Amino acid sequence: MEMTEDLIRNVIQQVLTQMGTGGPATNGAGPRPSGGKDGVYPTADAAVLAAEAAFKHYRKRPLACRRKAVECIRTICVEQAEELGRMELDETKIGRLDHKIAKLRDAIPRAPGVEYLRTDNWSGDDGITLTDYAPFGVIGAITPVTHSLPTLAGNAINMLAAGNTVVVNAHPSGAKVAAEGVRRFNRAIRQAIGLDDLITIIETPTLESAAALFDHKGVRLLVVTGGPAVARAALASKRRAVVAGPGNPPVVVDATADLENAARSIVAGAAFDNNLLCIGEKQVFAVSEVFDKLMEAVGRHGGFRLAAAQIDALTRQAFTQGDDKHFHVNKDLVGRDAAVLAKIAGAEAPKGTEIVYGETGADHLFVEHEQMMPFIPFVRVPDVDRAIDLAHASEHGYGHTAILHSRDTSVMSRMGRRMDCTVFVINGPSTAGLGLGGEGVLSFSIAGPTGEGVTTPLTFCRQRRTAVVGSMRFV
Ligand code: NAD
Repeated sequence: MEMTEDLIRNVIQQVLTQMGTGGPATNGAGPRPSGGKDGVYPTADAAVLAAEAAFKHYRKRPLACRRKAVECIRTICVEQAEELGRMELDETKIGRLDHKIAKLRDAIPRAPGVEYLRTDNWSGDDGITLTDYAPFGVIGAITPVTHSLPTLAGNAINMLAAGNTVVVNAHPSGAKVAAEGVRRFNRAIRQAIGLDDLITIIETPTLESAAALFDHKGVRLLVVTGGPAVARAALASKRRAVVAGPGNPPVVVDATADLENAARSIVAGAAFDNNLLCIGEKQVFAVSEVFDKLMEAVGRHGGFRLAAAQIDALTRQAFTQGDDKHFHVNKDLVGRDAAVLAKIAGAEAPKGTEIVYGETGADHLFVEHEQMMPFIPFVRVPDVDRAIDLAHASEHGYGHTAILHSRDTSVMSRMGRRMDCTVFVINGPSTAGLGLGGEGVLSFSIAGPTGEGVTTPLTFCRQRRTAVVGSMRFV
């Protein structure tokens, strides 16, 4: 038989596929759902069917394959951070390029993978009982525009590590970069372990495609990251849902605080990606004893202070009154640069300005609303207990994130108890609560309303118990 180049290539690909280490994906599941390529599908139904077929094969694979799949996602995020970060900014037009890149390059590697899984056990006279963390199957994920690809990548790392496959419905304004990420992840995973469609995505997402995902019988678990409307829809859904909803994180600064650290931290957290993070500092309540010193320190750490009339001018543009007479954040200003906000306020911010800020009352629109733009209102309060009360009111009971700057441990306890938040950061920027400059692992989905907290691979597992009676105790 003549050994042509094609024949040799075919033999190599067959061997690699059988070894599960490379070659083209077959998924061996018969005909593939129509219209899909590299995980990108035209409808929710096609995307779920493909992810279901992929799960049948993925569940038979060893943990080593999960590790390789997770590594593919991490490597692409790190090595292609600049290109993908730029793509995300060009499409969404919100946030900052340096931070879009940092979210992929520096944050995503901190999202936990297979190493986070564990087995619990009891061993005694009656034998051994194990609790294993097993996959659900296909997970439906709804992702926000504020971190389209980072949320998708972080969710996918956690979910694939846990042995699931995932179908994504991205926000329509961040759908292109999300689909491009899915294509790249799938190609790399196919190369690495010979499986396709571990992550699938609906190419043109709509509210209808999100609803179809919510109701699809092939989806075992929903994971929803977004604002109040989608959080409410997920909580009302018949399907079990992990809900990562909105926040409006307040900061309290008391008289014992290290004011330099407080100012530096507030600016760093609030400026990150132009205040798009759900955990980002949104309003500050500082006791009058240190208020002026804090304001001055913020100015030295990248803040540009607006006068009362300038704040009024910015507020008129930043909020619009709906037919229901309620005020809403003007989406055109969400995630815009501090210099742009300063200009709207009628001021010229110096180069290097990270946030604009100023003094307001506690009932100001910027205090009440999750503005997601780098103007931070500072409210002067007589004492720390009043500050905690106002912080609590401004958080609207979301129970998401709160930040404190204080050296007084009794204040730490009082505020922690009162706020009852999923993330409470003391003496650092909000990002420390996600393991960036603080201890702990990272996730872009913080599930407050349903109680799972900062999500990890264990969030996406079913617990399964195995009892071996009368043996397997070795001591
Ligand atoms: P958004 O609510 O507008 O959109 C989020 C996702 O939900 C998108 O994919 C969107 O298409 C979809 N969606 C919106 N309404 C829906 C409905 N009625 N039914 C089905 N799907 C629907 O939010 P956004 O502007 O993309 O993101 C910002 C919001 O998300 C902020 O409120 C922020 O606090 C929150 N957020 C929370 C977390 C967290 O971990 N808790 C993380 C990031 C963002």
